Amino acid sequence: MRGSSKKLYLVFVAIAFLTLFACGSAPKKDAAELSSPVAVSPVKDIGAALSAEEAVNGSVVLLKIVAPDSAGEASVEYEGRELPVFPLSNGETVSLVPVPFDRKPGPSVVKVRFGDITEIKIHEIPLRVLDGGYPSEVLRVDPKQIKPPKKYIKRIMRESREIGALYRRITPAVLWNGPFRMPIQSAITSSYGTRRVYNGEVNGFHQGVDLKAARGTPVRASAGGVVAMAKNLYFTGWTVILDHGYGIFTVYGHMNKLKVRRGAKVKAGQLVGLSGMTGRSSGPHLHWGVVVSRVKINPLEFMKVVK
Ligand SMILES: [Zn+2]
Repeated sequence: MRGSSKKLYLVFVAIAFLTLFACGSAPKKDAAELSSPVAVSPVKDIGAALSAEEAVNGSVVLLKIVAPDSAGEASVEYEGRELPVFPLSNGETVSLVPVPFDRKPGPSVVKVRFGDITEIKIHEIPLRVLDGGYPSEVLRVDPKQIKPPKKYIKRIMRESREIGALYRRITPAVLWNGPFRMPIQSAITSSYGTRRVYNGEVNGFHQGVDLKAARGTPVRASAGGVVAMAKNLYFTGWTVILDHGYGIFTVYGHMNKLKVRRGAKVKAGQLVGLSGMTGRSSGPHLHWGVVVSRVKINPLEFMKVVK
């Protein structure tokens, strides 16, 4: 008698257990909704689409947003980074999603939020990050050549802070018109993303492309913008940084002579300087970089997306 009641008890426990597991997922969802400070509505008349489902690290993807005015303002976030939303001259509302160089391959999500404080609609778009397959340059050099001399450390830190602050300032205007162009029409001598391995240690990656240029070659603005910086920097020598608006910047380094001043407005193709080999450079060339929302991306990939 005692044995059969024990059996009955075990069956009861098993049933209770199974019931708990079978509906375990439903209350979870309710809990998430209740804990949200505002109502989250499913997306209906709102569309947001990426120009690609996949992107390599160091590239950029265009996000197009379609929504009625009643949807409220849109904001975009990618892996903790708020991205500006802006209008193009063709009437489209877009955002640029930069994939950082150090982002590991795998799935990721672009979040688009619409609405105000009373109601938020969230649209999540998957983006698969692929490995850019960037090469490594393995070099054995005198360690003194890798680490800058002590007397320059303060200067390097100051310049790094200055550049960082500059990239954080968002100009809320589209200052360019039409496609971005190469600043010099010539061959690429060092591509974006090349890892530099000195004496077995990874020492950063190439944050732009190097263009072949004899000393004194005219360097032209990739697109319209405002000169955000025009000065001599420790690493990139005489450098111009153009602000194109909405967190987009282009960088021109190692020049011999600058032809623009900070604060000047420039048009696409305007002369900004003459190429050279100032700063840390092993020979005359132009270093050209593109920055989107503080992320240094491949200029060639950028040109494919922003037209
Ligand atoms: Zn370079």
